[in-house]
Amino acid sequence: MKLDFSSYPIIDHHSHPWGDDTKELTNHRFIGLMNMGELSEEEARDPENLAHSEFTPMGRQIVHLMARFLGCSPRLSEVLEARNKRTRVDYWKYCRELFEDANIEGLFVDDGYSEVSVGAGLARNNIEEFQARAPAHMRRVARIEPRFQDAVDQSNSFEEFVALFDRSIEDAVRLQKAVAFKSVIAYRSGLHIDRPTEQEVFEDYRVSKATRSRSVKHIRDWYVRRVIAKCRELGATFHVHAGMGDIDVVFDKSNPMQMYGLLKDPATWKTKVFLVHGGYPFSQEAAFYANALKNVYVDLSEMIPFASIPGAIEKTTQILDMAPPARVVFGSDGVVIPEIHWAGAKIGRQVLEASLGSFVSTGVYDEEEAHQAAKLILAENVRRVYKPW
Ligand SMILES: [Zn+2]
Repeated sequence: MKLDFSSYPIIDHHSHPWGDDTKELTNHRFIGLMNMGELSEEEARDPENLAHSEFTPMGRQIVHLMARFLGCSPRLSEVLEARNKRTRVDYWKYCRELFEDANIEGLFVDDGYSEVSVGAGLARNNIEEFQARAPAHMRRVARIEPRFQDAVDQSNSFEEFVALFDRSIEDAVRLQKAVAFKSVIAYRSGLHIDRPTEQEVFEDYRVSKATRSRSVKHIRDWYVRRVIAKCRELGATFHVHAGMGDIDVVFDKSNPMQMYGLLKDPATWKTKVFLVHGGYPFSQEAAFYANALKNVYVDLSEMIPFASIPGAIEKTTQILDMAPPARVVFGSDGVVIPEIHWAGAKIGRQVLEASLGSFVSTGVYDEEEAHQAAKLILAENVRRVYKPW
């Protein structure tokens, strides 16, 4: 018995925008996107580095999918030649064709960029410009950290900082129409989020003002709690990066297990909290919360399609071991090129077919329930929680 979810539309709950700078894609640029560490021009001159980056599971599974879509052999240079031939005619038409092929109904897009590193990390993108050209519906997710840093930079006192920060959070929903806030505190001071005293927050404000430090922990813990409380008023949800990321992530403090103190605090229970990236590789820890608490959800992005398909099947099964299907949402973490969003959607369905297939063959769900679970995860949970369009 093989389940077939190919007809179900997808809403991508976590992704990033892309722009015209990837209309023409070189082998080197593509390879750099197919691992967690990028690949600079200089690094690419070392054959040992190329051997590492050219042959990742993510890279190969996306190249194979692209070869099928473009009707060529799965050799990278051939695939990119066929791709660039089409994007040169009309990049955004090619993007629409990809999205139609993968039946992607809409995207949630993180508006964030790297506010503390120069030359590395996510570039600043114009979200309005992207929204006008996006090949599907789009809703904005407002990243907290750049708004925090702007409020620190533009303020002359702690009181003024708090007022500026609060206003930027309210404006994100009221003016910029964001549906959620996202924190990358796992890249700054880690997920062990305490309840700091006023004095500690004030002291950190002074340090942050003077140094723009990543790791001012008290004030970062403060803004996470403050935004979670604000989400209730504003009708937004809270997304938090959990688990792997690029090497800047504070990996030893990125396990969602570290959020126990925060998540068991009833003050956070009225806000829906999404653990983004399935907490990968700490997926079972993430899934536990989605079972034990009524307000916690797991987002599968980045694990799909950055991990191999067999690995993602195993991890998704580990998540669905505990997390009810009504608490799991699909996401791709597509970034820089549209092919990651597209491949994520195709692989996402394939992963769920295999994973939920094992629930059917072992008698956990019947076939109808497996289809129901897939529809919830691929789009309906997002539709129900956000009513996004
Ligand atoms: Zn992301």
